[in-house]
Amino acid sequence: MTSPASPMRVRVHRGCHEVGGSCVEVEAEGARLVLDVGRPLTAGPDDLAALPDVPGLADGSDPSLLGVLISHGHLDHYGLVDQVHSSVPVFAGRAASAIVEAARFFSPRGPALRPTGYLVDGQTFALGPFRVTPHLVDHSAFDAYAVVVEAAGRRLMYTGDLRGHGRKRSFARMLAAPPAGIDALLMEGTHVGSERHEPVTESRVEFDLAATIRSTAGLAMVASSAQNIDRLVTVYRAARRAGRILLVDLYSATVAEATGRSTIPRPGFPGLGVWMPRRQRVQVKESGEFHRTAAVRRYRVFTEELVAHPERYVVLGGSSAAHELLRDRALTAGGALVWSMWSGYLADPSGGRLREAARSAGVPLVEHHTSGHASVRDLGRLAAAVNPGRLVPIHTQGPQQFAEHFANAAPQQDGAWWEVAPHRALASSSAASRSPRCP
Ligand SMILES: [Zn+2]
Repeated sequence: MTSPASPMRVRVHRGCHEVGGSCVEVEAEGARLVLDVGRPLTAGPDDLAALPDVPGLADGSDPSLLGVLISHGHLDHYGLVDQVHSSVPVFAGRAASAIVEAARFFSPRGPALRPTGYLVDGQTFALGPFRVTPHLVDHSAFDAYAVVVEAAGRRLMYTGDLRGHGRKRSFARMLAAPPAGIDALLMEGTHVGSERHEPVTESRVEFDLAATIRSTAGLAMVASSAQNIDRLVTVYRAARRAGRILLVDLYSATVAEATGRSTIPRPGFPGLGVWMPRRQRVQVKESGEFHRTAAVRRYRVFTEELVAHPERYVVLGGSSAAHELLRDRALTAGGALVWSMWSGYLADPSGGRLREAARSAGVPLVEHHTSGHASVRDLGRLAAAVNPGRLVPIHTQGPQQFAEHFANAAPQQDGAWWEVAPHRALASSSAASRSPRCP
């Protein structure tokens, strides 16, 4: 029911001009919701990052705040959730939460994500005056959602992070049957203003990686993020194509198990074993959680076997595992080190150390990667399909460039409230002044 006295209002606390640290506050009919409580990417691991100034978020003092929705398990979307007061309900995907929880054994600095309720694809639920509908999207984080929030006769859609070049069909499904009647679309624009070339598909990464493995005589080591489940699938399929056994580390095996999906490759799958880096063996020993190693014992392959028969294997792990394999001479000339993460990490000091270690061992470093974020072309398809009354940039460093690519772009400022105006009212006024400029 439309309530002119209390329309839906939105303020983006962080993200109008920045990738990372996303946080959006939505208000309607005297109630409020928060979408994401991300940690800014500019904050170092030891820096204190405070919650945005949302009444009741940190101290639970304002009952009009009905909950926090977490779109997906990337730190720049949930990283401040441990500062949210325990009386404020938190909602996130079940598998996303399980993955974050499982990862904390290996990477204990990340906050816990223990939601009070779960987001389920297509299942609308009510929070006070809000009706919330999560839509599963393809992203480099597993179990990621866009959400549609309805209240006061207005309809807001928030994309979270998404892409159209992954394996899941969720993007094509959304284009074919987009949420209807969206008055305002908060759309991520990670690549807007910075895209040099269109990202390759995840399938392309699989084919290219398989070719690299086939042309490698020795061990192939793929450095990737353990929480990038799509990449695990890609590397497994590429190893199978090349006729090799994939060895994952304990972190990757644990996260795959946490997805709860029987289709995700894990120990027990054909041609898949476990190689444990020293660091993870130490973590198990120091914690006394020996059930972790016991669970994968029958699938384990040891470094001595990699040294003896490097041509049989592909190892998937983090960059510290790559250092270890180079040091222990399992990864030597004739082998290949594949970088399957954002290339920017290779430019930082630790990336420089890895490049140098590979170079001095005579091991070529090859990059096979694609982004977790939509190309500008795919964003254009999404914007055209949803056809919102107003398109507001978020998670972008190029808000001003939105108007060059998409209709009805309306950049906003961090911290400023704006009303979600009804689509038709905007449509009639937009003929006179299309694409307002970022203030
Ligand atoms: Zn993300």
